[in-house]
Amino acid sequence: MEKQGENSSRLVLVLYPFQGHINPMLQLGTIFHAKGYSITIIHPEFNSPDPSNHPLFTFISIPDKLLESNVSLSPADFMNLVSALNRNCEAPFQKCLTQILDHKHSHERISGVIYDGLMYFAQTVADSLGLPGVCMRPTAAAMLLFSVIPQTEQESVFETQIPELHPLELKQMLKSMSTNPTEAMTEVRAAALNATKRSSGMIANTMEFLEHAALSVIREYSPAPVFTIGPFHKLAPSSSSSLLQEDSHCISWLDKQAPKSVIYVSFGSMASLSKQDIVEIAWGLASSEQPFLWVIRPGLVHGSEGTELLPDGFQETVGERGFIVKWAPQQEVLAHEAVGGFWTHCGWNSTLESVSEGVPMLCSPCFGDQFLNMKYICYVWKIGLRLETELERGKIQGAIKTLMVNIQGDEIRNKATEFKRKTQVCVTEGGSSWSSLDEFTKQILSV
Ligand code: UDP
Repeated sequence: MEKQGENSSRLVLVLYPFQGHINPMLQLGTIFHAKGYSITIIHPEFNSPDPSNHPLFTFISIPDKLLESNVSLSPADFMNLVSALNRNCEAPFQKCLTQILDHKHSHERISGVIYDGLMYFAQTVADSLGLPGVCMRPTAAAMLLFSVIPQTEQESVFETQIPELHPLELKQMLKSMSTNPTEAMTEVRAAALNATKRSSGMIANTMEFLEHAALSVIREYSPAPVFTIGPFHKLAPSSSSSLLQEDSHCISWLDKQAPKSVIYVSFGSMASLSKQDIVEIAWGLASSEQPFLWVIRPGLVHGSEGTELLPDGFQETVGERGFIVKWAPQQEVLAHEAVGGFWTHCGWNSTLESVSEGVPMLCSPCFGDQFLNMKYICYVWKIGLRLETELERGKIQGAIKTLMVNIQGDEIRNKATEFKRKTQVCVTEGGSSWSSLDEFTKQILSV
């Protein structure tokens, strides 16, 4: 039995099956459900979300044949994975969407297909069935600069048109992206760009004030209108979509800590560290003398649970001052008054979650767009500090102190607080994200 919303319209949302993409898409589903739309989530079998956490949505799994495609799940093989998903999922999605359309809901229509930018096959299927396709981008909008500006013009545009964005070093990033591209990389980029061009619009999980300069260039070049309705999780509170079990004991521990005293440490769902990194982080946290909440997820160090790598004497040294979990309810943690700093890998969701709670960041990017996000945080917005790639206990201790306690960190902390206030303005009635959502609904969904 399909679950129906109030306004007789259904939206079909297509998930890319990784944590940093599942969260924003399900949050977007919550936003549109609150506006009265029925929501169907279509997802590959791999990393299926738990439907019981979202009883108001209809979940449909489609075969992804990933096992047969022989692709690895490591970030290094990411483009092959995206390419395989797009090849394997298009036909099952076409069949599934046709069935939904054929299923006679007397008073329901499908208003559109919103797909993760990496699941671009969905645009082709939407086109073939005459439905509006909308691309959702869970990264900084600035990443779109690499796709919407014609390749031949990118270098000069990056150099001349957006001086505010020079700290992002887009030219350098372009160089590293275009050195020895693999076949899969070239194929994925071309197909994703092609889908974006045909889409009815793009939804970016960002805010105008954060990315004003990038957005104005993107809008100049993009054939599709760009709607900035982030941070999604602040527009409508959403239930958890964690693939790992969240350990909520850390919240009672946070309740016992002084305001803004805790450094929260988490490197997201994909980044990996070495055994030596774990040792340096442990001693850096111990000598910082700040209370800390540290997420050591299984696999953070390849092939290990992680906690067994903690050095001898560490637990005794830190005692009750430290709390370690395998996975945290991160949004709740960042919103907790005891948290005064976030040591992050700079994934875009983590970045937005921290920005919207006014928590300054210590940045250790690991791969891909995390470097761009780090540059935004440290050099454009100035709400964080960068840690050098080679983690070393003395530098960690010093950086935590600057971020959270020392006078040199005052400006960063004040700026972070100002960003929380600006975020609140964006998501309340009349604010830029609120208005963009309104505009999207009128312009795209009511056609
Ligand atoms: N997250 C969480 N608990 C954790 C660590 C991360 O709930 O212990 C969530 C976090 O709130 C964010 C997502 O996982 O929404 C990670 O996405 P992000 O883009 O920051 O990084 P990725 O995992 O994609 O590298």
